[in-house]
Amino acid sequence: MPLQIIRQDITKIKCDAIVNAANKTLLGGGGVDGAIHSAAGKELLEECKTLGGCEVGEAKATKGYNLPAKYVIHTVGPIWHGGNDNEESLLKNCYLNSLLKAKELGCESVAFPLISTGVYGYPVDKGFKAAVDVISSFLMDNEMLVYIVVFNKASFIAGSKIFSEIDEYIDDNYAESHIDKNRSILSENAPLPSFFGKMPKRATGKAFADDLCTSEYASADEEIEIEVDESFSEMLLRKIDEKGMKDSECYKKANIDRKLFSKIRSNPQYRPSKQTAVAFAVALELPLPEFKEMLMKAGYSLSHSFKFDIIIEYFVTKGNYNIYEINEALFAYDQNLLGA
Ligand code: ADP
Repeated sequence: MPLQIIRQDITKIKCDAIVNAANKTLLGGGGVDGAIHSAAGKELLEECKTLGGCEVGEAKATKGYNLPAKYVIHTVGPIWHGGNDNEESLLKNCYLNSLLKAKELGCESVAFPLISTGVYGYPVDKGFKAAVDVISSFLMDNEMLVYIVVFNKASFIAGSKIFSEIDEYIDDNYAESHIDKNRSILSENAPLPSFFGKMPKRATGKAFADDLCTSEYASADEEIEIEVDESFSEMLLRKIDEKGMKDSECYKKANIDRKLFSKIRSNPQYRPSKQTAVAFAVALELPLPEFKEMLMKAGYSLSHSFKFDIIIEYFVTKGNYNIYEINEALFAYDQNLLGA
């Protein structure tokens, strides 16, 4: 998955480069900067002293020393002054210049914290959006694995209006068989639905257990009804042609890497995971009936019993096929993200 959102301490991530939200001196500070310096060791500070500081929006690299990452890319985010002080373009420069630096260093993977969203006060939802805008457009022309690291999930969720709408949609679409007790992320202590604890009628042992782990729900009935004349892979390739899309446009929009797409392309019988199948249906912007038909080809359905499925349905019925926004929501609800 070229762009991943993860909840982690960035100092623990094993990738080619991690990005530091530094200050202009580059001589260390609090927050993520302090955590990176203490995990990397004193040598990091020694190298930083030779760099002569850094301007807001720019990026400079050092080695990673005791970190699992090979490099640290230091960038200086803007301080939030209400939004009319060029903050957005300065923040976007941080992401872009860090990505360009990573590319120059030959990095295949890079992890970003949410720059400026701590003591510099940039609103988390706006900061996240700036990150996604720049990274996703960079990934249209470059192959790299990019992580956005969300350290403080509570503030990430609190900052976004969309989650209350999704909460409402989940409430409205509860199926009798819904089994998820943590349905509302906004009201953590919401009472459990009265039917909590009952097994879904259609779910037999294995299907039920699988779905709890992966959201990959397909009842035996539906599997029998799947048309065997056109496979998932064949339908995908046909739809790409019908939409006049290039293959690369489609798999990039689906947040799928080239290798996996090639596998699917060359094997008409390939059975993708549910996350992959949904990602392609999103990239093709299929309306709900076709969307479901495509999932059926891979043996999956969208059920009102599962949060993952309801969230996907919410976005499709809204006509919002932005995979990064969908993944933001899935991340907030602790669901598997779309892509490989
Ligand atoms: P800034 O001064 O740019 O706002 P901060 O370090 O105060 O920098 O915060 C930037 C972001 O980094 C915040 O979203 C904060 O939650 C996050 N953060 C803090 N520590 C870590 C860490 N160890 N790993 C990943 N992210 C972190």
